[in-house]
Amino acid sequence: MKVLIVFAHPEPRSLSGALRDVAVKALEAQGHGVRVSDLYAQSWKSEVDRADFPSLPSDARLAPAAASKQAFEAGTLTADVKSEIEKLLWADVLILQFPLWWFSMPAILKGWVDRVFAYGFAYGVGEHSDKRWGDRYGEGTLAGKRAMLIVTAGGWQEHYSARGINGPIDDLLFPINHGILYYPGYDVLPPFVVYKSDKLDEVAFAAIAARLHERMSTLATTSPIAYRRQNGDDYLIPSMQLRSGLGDPGLSGFALHVGRAGTRHDEPDILRSATEISAAIA
Ligand code: FAD
Repeated sequence: MKVLIVFAHPEPRSLSGALRDVAVKALEAQGHGVRVSDLYAQSWKSEVDRADFPSLPSDARLAPAAASKQAFEAGTLTADVKSEIEKLLWADVLILQFPLWWFSMPAILKGWVDRVFAYGFAYGVGEHSDKRWGDRYGEGTLAGKRAMLIVTAGGWQEHYSARGINGPIDDLLFPINHGILYYPGYDVLPPFVVYKSDKLDEVAFAAIAARLHERMSTLATTSPIAYRRQNGDDYLIPSMQLRSGLGDPGLSGFALHVGRAGTRHDEPDILRSATEISAAIA
């Protein structure tokens, strides 16, 4: 398999940097091709502005979506964006790795999405009719590929549980998993989340590294989150409402859009024995 890791942390010697190295090593040891987009190292430009559309006349009003569509179709997107699109088309698996900052991704990574997921590439794809509403949510340019998140969070796992004050982690990550990754077609794997990440000693790091190593060895076989497909029979078109009768009557919000009764994907918070850890990373 070919795996692209988009890495968003300003410090290579960080915990995030160490986990990225674990992931790359594990993937390469299995014979996978790995490429890393290290956004801070690349000095990635995160804001969408006129400089993204050099072919736009200087007196024309900038309409970002229309300009993105025109530039994608004409092949005039900037070289940095084209390079990332080429990597996305190359990769069978996309991994976004970041520390949770203000309950979301760092701005540099959001800016990568804003600029790279161009109109005509990641959205605005496919036909609209009374049966289909474009190719999105399980269909689209990136369909057939897999994606997952590797996230470090300062908060505890309990803080992100179903009744935790921060809100459930699946809900917080829903706009990324469903809105950014599933939208252009990826099958989205359950996230790898490290909790209490500000206070990790070497034993805890070894246990987490072993879990990550294991996740890297099951990228092809892990079941994706069972998000409902837009163009199946689950939604009314064009209102895009989930049909009545679907979804557990007790569910509301994001969980409604996951089949199989809103399965949650919290990772077990288990420190393994030293023997298990060594076996997994050997
Ligand atoms: P680092 O700071 O690099 O390291 C964390 C710990 O891991 C250190 O104690 C380090 O010694 C240890 N460690 C153990 N082994 C290793 C190793 N091999 N290599 C490197 N380090 C190791 N948290 C939330 O839960 N929710 C939020 O909304 C949130 N918002 C934030 C907003 C901002 C702007 C910031 C700066 C932080 C926020 N945090 C939040 C906390 C943040 O998620 C964590 O600080 C971050 O995920 C920790 O990851 P890191 O890679 O930066 O860790």
